[in-house]
Amino acid sequence: MSQRSHIHKWTKQDRTLHIIPAIPLILFYAGTIYLLAKESLVLMGVFMLFWVGVNFAVAGICAGCPYRGGYCPGLSQLYFAPFLSLLLHRNPDRISPTRSFKYELISLGIIGVGSYAFAFYWLVRIYWQSSPLVVLALFALLLVHMPLSFFILCPKCGYNDTCPMSKVHKAIE
Ligand code: SF4
Repeated sequence: MSQRSHIHKWTKQDRTLHIIPAIPLILFYAGTIYLLAKESLVLMGVFMLFWVGVNFAVAGICAGCPYRGGYCPGLSQLYFAPFLSLLLHRNPDRISPTRSFKYELISLGIIGVGSYAFAFYWLVRIYWQSSPLVVLALFALLLVHMPLSFFILCPKCGYNDTCPMSKVHKAIE
């Protein structure tokens, strides 16, 4: 990992801008949690466990980031990982940064995609017949969040010298 040499000082404008990608994600999570809980608390609990798992994976990534423990764009992704990382990785110097980033990124991808697949498998199974538009709306919220996150959050992420998504962002800038 090559960590950012420049540490961004977050302005009020940054923080306001970061709310934009957070809105569809909050609506997606709120709607999904509500609909899964309506059918089964176990389904909701498993979905929440995926979210916790995502945060454990991100916490490993945060271990080498200058922003952990304070404000960062990850909060717009509904991560508590920047704070969890302080507990789990007290001494980030002892973690190989390259290994950490690579493996945690793979874990994050698997758990993150798994959580969405889990949610939509059950949402489609339970609600598609009665409320297809609601399921499609939740899917649309997720789709809207992704490019917003990519264009607003990636440029100032603590890993934008290393992360593949940030490299794509720089290439099309
Ligand atoms: S910018 Fe990303 S890697 Fe850095 S602390 Fe925030 S969530 Fe973690």
